[in-house]
Amino acid sequence: MQGVADDMVCDSKIKQGREEMKKIKCPSCGSYEIAKILYGLPYFNDDLKKKLEAKEIVLGGCIVYEGNPEFYCNSCEISFKYSTLA
Ligand SMILES: [Zn+2]
Repeated sequence: MQGVADDMVCDSKIKQGREEMKKIKCPSCGSYEIAKILYGLPYFNDDLKKKLEAKEIVLGGCIVYEGNPEFYCNSCEISFKYSTLA
C-alpha cells in the first residue's frame, strides 16, 4: 500500500525528493531499485516499517550536512545525490 508517510526528518528539504523517486535511476548501474535515505529520527509506524522492508527507504541518521547523499541503490549498494544526475 502506497501512502504518504509520517516521516519525521531533521531537514524538511529532503522530503522534496519523494515524488521524484520513481524516475530516479542509479548513476552507477542504471537500476531503478532506489531507496530514499531518510535522515532524522523516524517515527516507526507500520508505513515506515513496510518501506524499510521493501527497501524504499534506508535510514541515514540524524545529521544532515551539505553533500549528504539522498538516495541509495539497492543493486550496487552505493549512495548518491539526486543533484549529481542533473
Ligand atoms: Zn546501482
